[in-house]
Amino acid sequence: MKAVYLDNNATTRVDPAAVAAMLPFFTEQFGNASSMHAFGSEVGGAVLKGRRQLQALLGAQFDHEIVFTGGGTESDNTAILSALETQGARNEIVTSAVEHPAVLALCAWLEKSRGVKVHYIGVDARGRLDVAAYRKALSPRTAIASIMWANNETGTIFPVEMLAELAHEAGALFHTDAVQAVGKVPMNLKETAIDMLSLSGHKLHAPKGIGALYVRRGVRLRPLIRGGHQERGRRAGTENAPGIVALGVAAELAQQHINDENTRVRAMRDRLEQGLLQRIGNSFVAGDVDNRLPNTANVAFEYIEGEAILLLMNKAGIAASSGSACTSGSLEPSHVLRAMKVPYTAAHGAIRFSFSRENTDEDVDHVLDVMPGIIARLREMSPFWDGKNAGQSGFAPTYA
Ligand code: PLP
Repeated sequence: MKAVYLDNNATTRVDPAAVAAMLPFFTEQFGNASSMHAFGSEVGGAVLKGRRQLQALLGAQFDHEIVFTGGGTESDNTAILSALETQGARNEIVTSAVEHPAVLALCAWLEKSRGVKVHYIGVDARGRLDVAAYRKALSPRTAIASIMWANNETGTIFPVEMLAELAHEAGALFHTDAVQAVGKVPMNLKETAIDMLSLSGHKLHAPKGIGALYVRRGVRLRPLIRGGHQERGRRAGTENAPGIVALGVAAELAQQHINDENTRVRAMRDRLEQGLLQRIGNSFVAGDVDNRLPNTANVAFEYIEGEAILLLMNKAGIAASSGSACTSGSLEPSHVLRAMKVPYTAAHGAIRFSFSRENTDEDVDHVLDVMPGIIARLREMSPFWDGKNAGQSGFAPTYA
């Protein structure tokens, strides 16, 4: 049976070129990058190369603005916790209601355990940030504003460059979780006011367990992990040389493919989305259709459960993910779709299809072939579907 992987926002396959590049760093080039002998210096050179490859992808001014970490979650935690320490008496955070748990769970903990005030800025029905509310929340008490570049569930892109400038007007630092945007959206950080940016290797065809935090020169960083002097004292622990080498190669490949991402990948995504909406009634796209990542489609199928859809899709060889997370036995729809006020009847049936450059037109054909049957079958069994509601969407946001 054909296997179709459309869950690239969850994780990506490591590019074979990245695997090939990292392998020698497990064997012949096993040295510690900080050692003073040839084994070490070779590895040190490879780490520097990886840093420069990432610098190029981000358009950072200096290679030392890249701090390697263990992934996106660590980068997000480092940025926010550091700002609370370096920003004097400022002890408030401005973030959005639709961030990844890597930011939201940290903020919840800071509120509870440290009495930090967190402003969660809402979004509209398309998932667009309420910029007026953001502006209002910024104050001389704001230590940091942390707003994601692109949403992992809907792909909606936030105007981070403008948001960074607004944060600076209030004297606050600006951090962006760009885990989903890096490699998909062209970046030139040296021309922005962004102070810190998080990225993760496994979202761009590099391995899991390696990521980076961009820290603009001049921005003070308090390390999250203390120990040795690696990464100029900003992140202790022996460098993950194989991971860094692979991330560097992946960054270079992402840069080479960024146009492809914005044309071929976008065209596949659009064909899937339009094909689904044409074939299946009572379905709509969640997210800002005019300003989204090129690879992400979040399609809500009303009156059925996302988990059931995923199970049947899995049987048909298709891997995607649902907007809802199963917590303690109760199925709560995703916080992102709830923030967009998508009704429960639709949010429960939301499926995220996320492409990568490895997908093909045949993948799209296969999904379009099997999805109408899956949805029809589940609706027949759904207590919420009586046929009468067919054609009348309970939500149907109008997209101009
Ligand atoms: N931020 C966003 C927007 C993500 O999508 C993810 C991964 O799902 C993370 C952070 C966490 O990254 P990592 O898995 O590298 O810790």
